[in-house]
Amino acid sequence: MLEIITKFFDKSNRKQGAGTPLIVKSGQHALIANMISRDARKVVEVLQDAGHEAYVVGGSIRDLLLGLKPKDFDVATSAKPAEVKVLFRRSRIIGRRFQIVHVQFSREIIEVTTFRSNETKPNGNKSGKGLRQQSNSGMLTRDNVFGSVTDDASRRDLTINALYYDPSDNSIHDFAGGLEDIESRVIRIMGDPATRFREDPVRMLRVVRFCAKLGFTIDARTAKPMHKLAADLEHVSPPRLFDETIKLFMSGQGLATFWLLYEYGLFERIVPQLGTMMKDRDNLTCRLIGQAFTNTDIRIRAEKRVTPAFIYAALLWPAVQHLAAQYRDRGNSASYALSKAAGEVIAKQIPITAIPKRFTMPMREIWDLQLLLPRRGGQRAERLVAHSRFRAAYDFVLLREQAGEELSGLGDWWTAYQEANTEKRARMAATIGEPSNKKSRTRNRRRSKPTAPSE
Ligand code: ATP
Ligand code: MG
Repeated sequence: MLEIITKFFDKSNRKQGAGTPLIVKSGQHALIANMISRDARKVVEVLQDAGHEAYVVGGSIRDLLLGLKPKDFDVATSAKPAEVKVLFRRSRIIGRRFQIVHVQFSREIIEVTTFRSNETKPNGNKSGKGLRQQSNSGMLTRDNVFGSVTDDASRRDLTINALYYDPSDNSIHDFAGGLEDIESRVIRIMGDPATRFREDPVRMLRVVRFCAKLGFTIDARTAKPMHKLAADLEHVSPPRLFDETIKLFMSGQGLATFWLLYEYGLFERIVPQLGTMMKDRDNLTCRLIGQAFTNTDIRIRAEKRVTPAFIYAALLWPAVQHLAAQYRDRGNSASYALSKAAGEVIAKQIPITAIPKRFTMPMREIWDLQLLLPRRGGQRAERLVAHSRFRAAYDFVLLREQAGEELSGLGDWWTAYQEANTEKRARMAATIGEPSNKKSRTRNRRRSKPTAPSE
């Protein structure tokens, strides 16, 4: 796979000193222009023809060099957002923290970013507009100072993401040794690691994400401050952190990502409610979460749908169970205890990762159904199968059993029930003994809608 930077790649070419990129010319690397989306090339061409500097940057160049399919193509340019906008009819300026321009094509959107600088102006700067600001923890709160391509390269996160490709002459401009790091498969943050992580703690998650996605190793200097700075994740806004966790969990490398997050003390910052429940790598909680990611990775590989609701339902389930047990011990019914615990656990998680309501609702239904699926005698089984969340709840039962929870063959029973014809189903429902804790007539039992399963 790694005939990326070809035999002609000559490292002696590299001039030392900040701001001098290594320029690897056409034929000396494995990229050819038509690997880049036509739309991205068009954007660069229009910008260059208008007298601006422009490159295809970031993840797409990295991925192409590694023989992977890029998710999207980003363009970086010396043109200011307003200057970009006038050049493309179907374009709009978006964002506050980073102002970028989206250029719409029929097949894709090309994101165009103006070169930015690392220059820091302290908080409270009067001129306010278009500046870079830092909070007390050293985190960047605003980042709109424009700069040169060299400035732009130095504020990117990883060396392997600081590669600038010019389609007009098919050259790669490497500002930070990214090509070498791709060759030796190393994840390395640019600049002083602790400073860069404090500026934006999400960069620690990105280090882990690319490590798992690409199968690279993390450079020792980069890794060193991560555990200590993991607590800085609390400065990241909850909606952004939710989005980042989804990228981590639904990358197709969820299991590897989970263990890396765990190792660097990042996971406990994302789901602090699990607290001491995750002390031992081999306990039920870790097994459940590991298994949830294994199953998610398998589904993604099989191109099946995965939903953040299922993943977050699994992550928070140990906390819900723990709290529900406490409410039951105080004499509450199982369904009341579960519902109260679910509400409280979700309410505590939202200020960390803002899970949208469209996911918390199904999460609660999956949990509620964990109490209802054992109660399957008489007409109940038919009603449960028709529940819109049945499929997810059934998968959740299987997950719990795979992780080692003892549920008296509940998963197998439901597997057989779904495969059975009407007659057999009736026999199965008639012969099943009801669990002893009946009588909890929750509203959820009545909510069965005859809609298609969601999974
Ligand atoms: P992918 O899209 O495959 O997840 P990517 O590297 O393209 O990976 P994006 O989130 O699309 O990631 O970001 C595009 C580029 O912007 C990155 O390659 C990197 O250079 C830069 N970047 C993104 N996030 C940060 C950050 N938090 N700090 C510094 N630079 C960043
Ligand atoms: Mg990208």
